[in-house]
Order: sequence, then C-alpha cells, then structure tokens
Amino acid sequence: MPTPSAADWRDWRWQLRNRLKTADDLARHFTLTPEQRALLDAGQGFETGVTPYFASLCKPFDPTCPLARQVVPDAAEAQTAAFERADPLGEDIHRVAPGLVHKYPDRVLLLVTDRCASYCRYCTRSRWVAADAEHLGQDELDAAIAYIAAHPEIADVLISGGDPLLLSTARLETLLDRLSEIPHLRLLRIGSRVPIFLPMRIDAELVHALRPRRIPVFVNVHINHFNELSAEARTALALLADGGVPLGGQSVLLRGVNDDADVLRETFFAMLGCRVRPYYLFHCDPVRGTAHLRTSVDAGLELMAKLVGFTSGMAVPKYCIDLEGGGKVPLWPRYVDQLDRDMVTLTNFRGERWTYVNEPRTR
Ligand SMILES: *Cc1c(COP(=O)(O)O)cnc(C)c1O
Ligand code: SF4
Repeated sequence: MPTPSAADWRDWRWQLRNRLKTADDLARHFTLTPEQRALLDAGQGFETGVTPYFASLCKPFDPTCPLARQVVPDAAEAQTAAFERADPLGEDIHRVAPGLVHKYPDRVLLLVTDRCASYCRYCTRSRWVAADAEHLGQDELDAAIAYIAAHPEIADVLISGGDPLLLSTARLETLLDRLSEIPHLRLLRIGSRVPIFLPMRIDAELVHALRPRRIPVFVNVHINHFNELSAEARTALALLADGGVPLGGQSVLLRGVNDDADVLRETFFAMLGCRVRPYYLFHCDPVRGTAHLRTSVDAGLELMAKLVGFTSGMAVPKYCIDLEGGGKVPLWPRYVDQLDRDMVTLTNFRGERWTYVNEPRTR
C-alpha cells in the first residue's frame, strides 16, 4: 500500500476501503504464526477487518498488545468449547420483527446494520455481523418501526448492529426522526464502536443528526482499554460531548486485554476524562471460538471488589452476565453477609464487618 496522504488518512471512507483483511495485510503490522496465517487463508471464520487507523494504535508486531488481541484472529478461534454458542444471548428466539429483539418489558434492541468499522474477535453477534445482510432494507425497517409503534409498553429503543454510525448520516437522521415521532417512546440510544475504530467518521453533520428530538438520543461507546483513547478518539468524543450528545461507555472484560484492576481503573477514568460515563462491564459471552479471550466470573468479581469503594463511583460500571435468552444479570461483590428482621450484617469495601439496624416494614 502506498503511504496515504494526510487527507486520505482523515477520510473515513478511505479507512474502510483500506481495512486490513488478509494475512498479508495484517503481516505488515502484526506477527502472525503459521496457524494464524492458515486460519486467515482458509477464510472460513468470522470476518476480519482492521482500519489502518486502529492498526496504527497497536504496538507493532507485539502479540500481547491489548488492542491487537481484540482484532487480530488467534489460531484458538478454530476451537469451540461444548458450551459455546453461535447465539449466546438467545436473540434469535426473541426476534419479533426484522432486526428487532424484544426481550425486556419496556425496551427493544433494533439491529440496523451488520457492518462494523473493524471486527472484534469476541463479537456476541459474530453469527450475524458481516454476514452480508448489510443494512436493514426499507421494508424491513418499516416492519420493525410498525411493531414498535403498535406496542405502547415500549419506552426505549436501543439501536445497534453492527454499528449504526456506519449508516449514512441521512439514513440515521431519518431513522431517529421516525422513531422520535412514536408518542410512547421516551429514550433512544445508539451503541457504537465507531469513535474508537473510525473516529474520523464523527463530524459536525453526524453530531447534528444525533441531536435530541422530542426525546433524548444517548450514545454508548464500546471501549475496552485506555490505549484506544488516542488523540483522534478524544477529538471525536469531544465533538459528540460538545454537541450535547450524552455519552455512556460499555466495555467487555477480556483476558489479556483489561482483566487487571489497574488497567480497568485507568480505562474507566480515561473514559470519564472524555465525558463518557462507564455504564456496563460485560462478562465476555460464550461465543464460539472465544475461550482464549474469556476470564472466569470469580476473577471478574474480584476485579469489581478492587474497584468498588477504592475508586470514584463514577468510574465503576455495572458488571453483567448476559444469559442465553434470560437477559442481563448484574453481579456485585458480596457486601450483605446476613439479613435478619432487625439487623443487617455487612462487609464494607475494606473487608470490615459492620452491623446495621434493620427497621420493621411499615407497609
Ligand atoms: C442490553 C439489552 C437491552 C438494554 O438493556 P439495559 O439494561 O436497559 O441497558 C435491551 N434489549 C436487549 C435485547 C438487550 O440485550
Ligand atoms: S463493534 Fe460491536 S457489533 Fe461490531 S464486531 Fe465489535 S462487538 Fe461486534
């Protein structure tokens, strides 16, 4: 590849066109074992794609780089454990209209595109993402919106994919306009990794499209490691925050990436520094071929116990497991030892035992 001009580098379409996909592309930045090359050459696994921008943030030729581990296929992807699933969240069984998952009483998940700027090896939706469905067609989108309009119990629409910020600004704008006209909706939110993989996509027109209508539009950004917050990513997040877009963060707990209390603390503070409030830390779902990126639930709880009370509560997200079809379960280190009718025994964040008076219920 010839050296890109500065204008090319800042052009998000150039970044997408020039994603690293093949073994030869990746070998320019990363050390590949013969097994990794064989896996890439076979071309059968989950889609590979890394923007040149994100590759430039990775430590060159260092397989332990926490950013490279998220996007470069490992030979271990070829191994599937018995409990691993293609659809670990049971989304397909809760689909009520094209691209629409209705699992919780008052909110739905709308999957508008199967495209992402780069592909995370642990992607929960790898069965479906980059599988050529591309963007939801007009008829499909109409059917999904008709379902939402016909269900007054729905208050909140989470727009995800794939990455909704890869839709054209005009399409996104129309979608947000149409949804905000549904009178019973109270909240729209978008889940995206574009500010991390493709920060040059965030421009003034996009920020304008994300403005609040009758109801607010939140953007939750998927961020796993403080090294992802480069000068370009910080600029993109500042454009969104300055434009009045409320920002939340969601992270995935990944072995060799962020399964360390210091890394998590630093990452969550770095997010707050970008005005992104950490919202969820997800336990990595049992997606096929991802065992090498998962850690144990007890390790996750130990990490949470090292954060809660020891660092700003603003920097502590909810740690969650998403059950196959059962929804998200928040996990919290154990602080309640015993709950009696007149007394509660508690352990504080320092591990000290306390008792606290429990008052009788009055109603
Ligand atoms: C995560 C999720 C939501 C949103 O859940 P919150 O806890 O409100 O953030 C909605 N629908 C589906 C299917 C989800 O997976
Ligand atoms: S950005 Fe999200 S949807 Fe896209 S590959 Fe990564 S985890 Fe999957």
